[in-house]
Amino acid sequence: MYFSLPQTYREAPAEELQERIIEAKRKLGHKLVILAHHYQRLEVVGFGDHVGDSYGLSKVAAEMADVETIVFCGVHFMAESADILSHPNKRVYLPNPLAGCPMADMAEMADVMEAWQRLEEFGGDKKVVPISYMNTSAGLKAFTGRHGGLICTSSNAPAALKWGFDRREKVFFFPDQHLGYNTGIRYGLKPDEMVLWDFSREEGGLTEDQLAKAKLILWKGHCHVHTNFTVEHVAEVRRDYPGVKVVVHPECPHEVVDAADADGSTSFIVEYCANAPTGSTIAIGTEINLTNRMAHEHPDKKIFELSGDTCPVCANMYRTTLNDLAYTLENYADLKPIEVAEPTRGEALVALEKMLEVG
Ligand code: SF4
Repeated sequence: MYFSLPQTYREAPAEELQERIIEAKRKLGHKLVILAHHYQRLEVVGFGDHVGDSYGLSKVAAEMADVETIVFCGVHFMAESADILSHPNKRVYLPNPLAGCPMADMAEMADVMEAWQRLEEFGGDKKVVPISYMNTSAGLKAFTGRHGGLICTSSNAPAALKWGFDRREKVFFFPDQHLGYNTGIRYGLKPDEMVLWDFSREEGGLTEDQLAKAKLILWKGHCHVHTNFTVEHVAEVRRDYPGVKVVVHPECPHEVVDAADADGSTSFIVEYCANAPTGSTIAIGTEINLTNRMAHEHPDKKIFELSGDTCPVCANMYRTTLNDLAYTLENYADLKPIEVAEPTRGEALVALEKMLEVG
């Protein structure tokens, strides 16, 4: 896809863009809501009517009654989910249409269908429940809904896994292997009860025996931002900052989560920083824009990135600029909203509503 802002928006100075955004928001009033993910740039987050993680923002999208236009400063799957969850006559816009998620792209429909076909030999719908991380296409959310599964986020993954095992013997979890593995361990599974479906290999690279014994089948996807963190980083900050607290996101590899003091969703990390006593030293293992914002919002605490100078930035979250936001707010009537067509919408909605129920 090619996308380029008109030159007048590309070249406008930041102060002018800010004034234009304020004016556009004033004109649209209560008909407009801007949702901003925690990983957005600081200046974009500043315009968010609601700032949160994908779970929190989905809830907001589902609950808003009198809004007509949602501008979602995040990535594509989030805007799709907002469209599915919000009332049909709301329109959802993604200010930068190129903002995708490489992890979501690691689970392609055809590959997941191939895996499911194999899992049907192990009981299919009767014995295996699909749990899809929020970071998937609407088509895969619909697949999950069709097969009695639900969507999870890093906020509700433990509850979602329990929900799955309360109903069926096996859980098929995609696309993030690390969130799945970390949640499986927290649930009480042993490492040998979890297997990794490698979509680049025949039959996922798994034998009949491995699949028969497995309780949790994990997709071999990952987030390149969170796999940046290592146990060496944890050891280094503990050596250099005695008394430091290390808090990481569960998309990090298990050994990093294990070495940290706490792990949880982006909202958990935000609360962790807010609740830490003045004078605390906190090293965070997540996307750098959130870490920098935490440092900015809590000048009474020393907050910094766990991986030092490696700059774990999500380039897709970083794509959305004030220029994109101003352009979207001033021209949305001529822009194409993010729309999920039926029957995908309805089937995905079933799985997303279960996510909200499980909480
Ligand atoms: S931080 Fe990782 S999982 Fe989140 S949008 Fe970026 S690439 Fe995807």
